[in-house]
Amino acid sequence: MHSATLAINETLQIRRAAGEKVLHLGFGEAGLPVPAPVAAALSAAAGRNGYGAVVGSSEAREAAAGWFARRGVETRAEQVLFGPGSKALLFALLAALPGDVVLPCPAWVSYAAQAALAGKKTIGVPIPAQAGGVPDPALLEQALRDARAAGAHPGVLVLTVPDNPTGTIARDEHLREVCEIADRNGLAVVSDEIYAEVCHSGKAPSALGHLPERTIVTSGLSKSMALGGWRIGFARVPSGPWGDRLMQDLVGVASEVWSSLAAPMQAAATHILQDPPEVLAHVNAARRLHATVATAVHSAFTAAGAVCRRPEAGFYLYPDFEPVRPLLAARGIDTGAALAAALLEEHGVGVLAGEAFGDTADGLRARVATSLLYGDSETERWEALRSDDPLALPWIAASLDHLRTALGALTAQG
Ligand code: PLP
Repeated sequence: MHSATLAINETLQIRRAAGEKVLHLGFGEAGLPVPAPVAAALSAAAGRNGYGAVVGSSEAREAAAGWFARRGVETRAEQVLFGPGSKALLFALLAALPGDVVLPCPAWVSYAAQAALAGKKTIGVPIPAQAGGVPDPALLEQALRDARAAGAHPGVLVLTVPDNPTGTIARDEHLREVCEIADRNGLAVVSDEIYAEVCHSGKAPSALGHLPERTIVTSGLSKSMALGGWRIGFARVPSGPWGDRLMQDLVGVASEVWSSLAAPMQAAATHILQDPPEVLAHVNAARRLHATVATAVHSAFTAAGAVCRRPEAGFYLYPDFEPVRPLLAARGIDTGAALAAALLEEHGVGVLAGEAFGDTADGLRARVATSLLYGDSETERWEALRSDDPLALPWIAASLDHLRTALGALTAQG
């Protein structure tokens, strides 16, 4: 089945091309332009047309090791594996690590689909009230017991810190507790940290702080640098015999599926991961823009009666319309899918129903991505990135008006 996020992107693009006015809140494309020095690093490497080492070039691996070290995680180049997007690396991990897959619920759409492709069961555990991306520690151990009793063999716990779909950052005490449970139960932890660079303020905690010997981190440049189409991802495996064996298994999958990350992309990654000043400034500006727009969209949803965790990182929100269920029920809306359909068909607003993220079908929840509001052209996106008051830019203001009008009409009395 086509991934729900990519499918809604294609549907909304077709509607827009047909002249329909739709607000695209359905897709986690970071929606920002490419800084000139980064584009130059890529074009300077266009002549690199040979196949390279499966793991990545030594320059790119050294650059990634330095990138981790500057973020407080000592790393050797040998612990790093590059791939065409972290999605491919996550699949390789789920294929290589033994056992069924434990996921926070809701969780990013592709984990469960990838686990199924790898022939594994998934065990969904609800997230705590404070923040998503991590199973509620109070529920995890019992969920593992229940899963085993039902014939599953939990082996891998996937965490998303910061999180998509909720746009929040798991609390460190929750990470500590779930890592202790993972340790007691012999689980490996896959920590998807692709949004770690775009915390709205401060720094996200990591499972590496609690279970370093069994935590694999995945990351990439799709979100922080908005380079999703360049497909640059990397993974850090633990040092020591367990990590070394896993690296060999991952290289086995990579060598049979993608051979290596495209060499020019490795050159671009090498440039970016050395943290040159223009890259750090770009990511800082992006962080500010994500925070400002996500916070404005959060206000629009809560003003319409939804409850929603405050955005803390990236460009997502996960509103819950439960408080206005009777109003929506009077309009025939009693599931997340009906909510998403009404928003799209009647109000021209594209969001993804919570069900796509493993949530229950009858929950009135949807994932809202705010990063495609920055502009349709490169010029608009640069302006949004550089603006001190992006909400006042005419195209962003108009989109927010569209959203407020749509939500007002959706939840109007009578
Ligand atoms: N993980 C999460 C939580 C994501 O939201 C995404 C992209 O939407 C990815 C991984 C995959 O990113 P990529 O394959 O572009 O590195």
